[in-house]
Amino acid sequence: MTFEDFQLNRQLLNAITDLGYDVPSPIQEQAIPLVMGGHDVLGIAQTGTGKTAAYLLPILMKVKYAQGKDMRVLILAPTRELVMQIDTAITELAKYTDIRHVAIYGGLGPKTQIETIKAGIDILVATPGRFMDIYLKGEIGVKELKTLVLDEADKMMDMGFMPQIRKILEVIPSKKRQNLLFSATFPPRVEELSHEFLEFPKKVEVSPQATTAEMVNQILYEMPNFKTKINLIGMLMKDIERFKRVIIFCRSKEVADNIFKFLARKIVPENKIKVIHANKGQNTRINSMEAFREGNVQVLVATDVAARGIDIQMVSHVVNFDVPIIYEDYVHRIGRTGRANHTGEAITFMTEAEEYHIKKIEKIIKMEIPRQPLPDELVIEETPFIEKQEMLREIDAQKKKEDPNFKGAFHEKKDRRVKSKEKQEKQKKQMISSGRAPKNTSYRGKSNGGSSRRNTNKK
Ligand code: AMP
Repeated sequence: MTFEDFQLNRQLLNAITDLGYDVPSPIQEQAIPLVMGGHDVLGIAQTGTGKTAAYLLPILMKVKYAQGKDMRVLILAPTRELVMQIDTAITELAKYTDIRHVAIYGGLGPKTQIETIKAGIDILVATPGRFMDIYLKGEIGVKELKTLVLDEADKMMDMGFMPQIRKILEVIPSKKRQNLLFSATFPPRVEELSHEFLEFPKKVEVSPQATTAEMVNQILYEMPNFKTKINLIGMLMKDIERFKRVIIFCRSKEVADNIFKFLARKIVPENKIKVIHANKGQNTRINSMEAFREGNVQVLVATDVAARGIDIQMVSHVVNFDVPIIYEDYVHRIGRTGRANHTGEAITFMTEAEEYHIKKIEKIIKMEIPRQPLPDELVIEETPFIEKQEMLREIDAQKKKEDPNFKGAFHEKKDRRVKSKEKQEKQKKQMISSGRAPKNTSYRGKSNGGSSRRNTNKK
């Protein structure tokens, strides 16, 4: 099958040629004729399958050219990155048309966005929150709306956008509207939404629910602690030949900043590495993403908040510095690599406390992620006491979650510690009352031991 078979107009076919798409991807083969036929469509497809063009091409066919003032198409997506990415795809695919479009999202003042809308638009791409903000100011005309797309519906629900989406559905005209819903996964709540939102939908699915991209080679390292993870990431990133374009995902902004600082100081030239997370200013995030997209940056460190919707081709590696605890994020994270016929590698670092989550992920992806022995040259660090305790506490909490009657090894240990401390206190009191109290209780303290060791060394 070729793109010519869809009876798309010449402007779109030329843009497709410019983009270098040779043949339609499976989701495009299935969805384009249905959307062009005017059906409501439910598409189950991960990012990386070509789903954006699958709905954009028929939409651009329908919109054809600039007309009127108010939007005729509204595309809602969960994050500003995804909104921007969809908008970029429109720019590329509609480059030989005069179709007007704008992306609106939070984090920036709404003034310019409002001005663009007022000047007249055909397609609006928005996060649900920002759409409602501007709509309530009375700046978005909805009367001409003919097509509504919910992209990454599962993520929108995860992020708590359901109330806003319901409000949007209330304020836009429902007559003669074509509705499209795309989602990476199809849990019951997305199914419910699809009943509410779509009329006699046609369902298209390119891979079974939450299976991982076939092209991705997955590897898992069992790691003793955070510092060893840092050593390994440093070791891997030194191999520039292999790790050409890498996204490192981690759970929190703090960890992201730490990895960034470590790599920028010791391993990767500072202009070749960027970090993005919610605390970074909007412009910094956009610039970092662009630099990475253009290939000027080797390593991008990101949190999950920033991870969705990143569309960068030919990422050589995804490294999960932490195991994601929203399990579907694993699928989304590794979906960044191995896309559009490029093989990629997804490497996951797992501590003992994270094994529980990996087991859950393996259930979802219906496969075991192959374990790889740690490299011989890797420096294995001792696990600090606090980190060990934290891990034990986490493992206990996980076991309790599975079995509410589980007492917990850690708590038993803690109990023993408390008991022995109580015993010591009791002995001390007895000693004091019998007049045998030691004069200086700090005698056996650290500093003394340390100095005696130093002295020994001098000898
Ligand atoms: P998506 O799943 O929409 O995020 O698209 C993933 C990537 O695949 C994007 O970078 C698209 O530009 C690219 N892409 C979409 N359709 C095709 C195609 N038919 N051939 C090659 N690449 C494509």
